[in-house]
Amino acid sequence: MEKKLLVTGMDFLLDWVGQHIKSAEIVCSGDVSEENLSRLVKDADGILYMQAKSYPITRKIIESGEKLRFIQSAGVGYERIDLKAATDNGVVVMNMPVGTTVSVAEHTIALILGCAKNLVKAHENTVKGGWRILGLGVELWKKTLGIIGFGRIGIEVVNRMKAFEMNILVYDPYVGKEDIEKMGGKKVDLQTLLKESDIVSIHSPLTKETENLIGEEELGLMKPTAILINTARGELVDEEALYKALSERRISYAGLDVFRQEPVEADNPILKLENVILTPHMAVQTLDAVVRMMNQNGIQIEKALNGIYENVVNPEVLEKLKK
Ligand code: NAD
Repeated sequence: MEKKLLVTGMDFLLDWVGQHIKSAEIVCSGDVSEENLSRLVKDADGILYMQAKSYPITRKIIESGEKLRFIQSAGVGYERIDLKAATDNGVVVMNMPVGTTVSVAEHTIALILGCAKNLVKAHENTVKGGWRILGLGVELWKKTLGIIGFGRIGIEVVNRMKAFEMNILVYDPYVGKEDIEKMGGKKVDLQTLLKESDIVSIHSPLTKETENLIGEEELGLMKPTAILINTARGELVDEEALYKALSERRISYAGLDVFRQEPVEADNPILKLENVILTPHMAVQTLDAVVRMMNQNGIQIEKALNGIYENVVNPEVLEKLKK
């Protein structure tokens, strides 16, 4: 077989992808150093970028791919792929926006409930022989849920949280008032959302505009009883400021699935806090979502190997390829 697909970052879950790949040999690399990937990409036609940990696809890696045609991010996010370098080199970048939405929405709700009811600490306390010596939890009924980013996941969280009869506030500069009202929410600015919400849940992508969207000042606007949930990307929150706000109890609790550095460093002080529930970027790690997502990745990659590109995130490159 002449063509080669380089899978970076993970070498399991590949059966579901592999069954659709008829046009290329698959080579996997768990070593995601720039040096190793630059070597392996030399004769690859495409890359499947798996995001089990944080690592970049740099300009050097892209430029080392002598016949590289595409890079596919296995999930929604692609912020660590150098898009400019890809476009400059005529490399199409694609993502996989569907398949994982429901699992991430459900994980978000698990974190909301876990924090509101202090579930993890209650479990730890009970198995150690303790009995009801923890502080009181809170109800969600009639409280206010603030959603930052009203896209696929934000909407599915809202759809499910309506069962708790919560008031829904939404901050999303790119979604109109009517579209938010149709779904039972109210469009507000970020400051109002932070001041009025009992639960703040982040679902916007990582961009230059959203990096550190929630910093010291924004945390300062939140209620001391508020819970912050982040299943989007670690960089959206200033982690140091969050640590301070939680340790000084200026906000009540946080549920985090994502961190600035993944895997999270052992000396990250957030790991030591009592008022957090932390999960290892696993919101999509359900059998249902993984099977769906990996199958769709396989189908999309087989098309890309044959020159048909879907879910392209640097569409300007397609014009370039026509020339
Ligand atoms: P989406 O593109 O459907 O929705 C993102 C929404 O954020 C859009 O409505 C957009 O208008 C909005 N947005 C953009 N800039 C904003 C800003 N400055 N302020 C507020 N809102 C803004 O994406 P999605 O499928 O809902 O996924 C959302 C994010 O969740 C992804 O970008 C990804 O980083 C993250 N994610 C995490 C996991 C996980 O395993 N934890 C899995 C999938 C996705």
